[in-house]
Amino acid sequence: MTEKVALGKCTTYDTDEIYKLLRFQFESLGIEDCRFAGKKVAVKPNLVRKMDSSLGGTTHPSFVEAVSRILKEAGAAEIVVAESPAGVYSESALRAAYKVCGISDAAERAGISLNYGTGSAICKFEGGKVLQNFDIIDPIRGADVIINLCKLKSHGLTAMSAAVKNYFGTISGVEKFEMHARFPDMDNFCSMLVDLCRMYSENKYTVNIVDGIVGMEGNGPTNGEPRRMDLVVTSENAFAADLVCAKLIGLEGGVKTVLISEERGYCSLGGLETVGESIESMKVAGFDIPDTKKPPRFSAVSFLADTRIMRMFEPRPVIDKAKCIGCGECVRSCPKHTIKMSGTKKRRAEIARSGCIKCYCCQELCPRDAVRIRRSLVTKMLT
Ligand code: SF4
Ligand code: SF4
Repeated sequence: MTEKVALGKCTTYDTDEIYKLLRFQFESLGIEDCRFAGKKVAVKPNLVRKMDSSLGGTTHPSFVEAVSRILKEAGAAEIVVAESPAGVYSESALRAAYKVCGISDAAERAGISLNYGTGSAICKFEGGKVLQNFDIIDPIRGADVIINLCKLKSHGLTAMSAAVKNYFGTISGVEKFEMHARFPDMDNFCSMLVDLCRMYSENKYTVNIVDGIVGMEGNGPTNGEPRRMDLVVTSENAFAADLVCAKLIGLEGGVKTVLISEERGYCSLGGLETVGESIESMKVAGFDIPDTKKPPRFSAVSFLADTRIMRMFEPRPVIDKAKCIGCGECVRSCPKHTIKMSGTKKRRAEIARSGCIKCYCCQELCPRDAVRIRRSLVTKMLT
């Protein structure tokens, strides 16, 4: 598998500028129009939640327009936007996500379709190391080509979300929560994500484009701060693209999916070939990582952090009652059903500590940033 990655600078969301940069990157990578001619293409953005694209958590609509222009010029037979946002996979949820994230308007301008179907089926992948069956949404299953239009941002569970993590949004609706329950251990969860991505790279033609013009830092993937980085990363190899992204934001060695991909030989620092800008020249200074990943300062605590017993002391989610509006999104998203609503006049969420696997889905889905991450007293005292 190629380990060629294009890294480009772009300071604007002007569609023409993005189109020009992507055309240049495709050419540099040897991605020819014939790859798309007559093919069914699924464009997979990151629409994790209904949120305005200016917040840095979702793929900017200009990328959808720019890439659609390239695909049309190349003679793609079908172009459809396909995404399964976090939560229920229903027509109304899809409509809302497309609208709020600006994708409905972009698709109309580009003259491409949006998927509203809610079908899915199991795809088998014999090569999966921890999982061989994935419940995949129909427009992705039926596509010959996937354009993975992801976002560069921090992530409370996996540290970083870019190309590999974005494929998790091809799994049908609440099945994603079930996956968290099935893989409560972070290492296994990340191995599963690598399996999923590998299934696509072995069975379909994929191009991964990372929107890092304005990404998100801090408590991503949804409650962090927008971060201007002015960069776009493109590669046919999602693992290599993520290796570059991790280096760019100073998380080299700190992203489990990248480490697993390297261990499995899907990408490597030695084999990496970058075209366009250099990684050194595009490094993002002082990128803020999620509270869940902020390391203890003393080695004794670092040692404990590697042991199972330390799971008890991992940062845990708590509800900020002043911000909570009682919408129940977190209750519906919790794979372990440890969140309940309480109160009669004003209903507020409450998390029972026992049973929580610290997947942080509740934080990801809360529309009011009312789920805070609290470090334990022990780690606070030791650090
Ligand atoms: S999702 Fe957020 S606002 Fe809604 S009930 Fe849960 S904590 Fe409250
Ligand atoms: S309470 Fe939040 S972090 Fe804990 S299991 Fe439920 S969704 Fe995951």
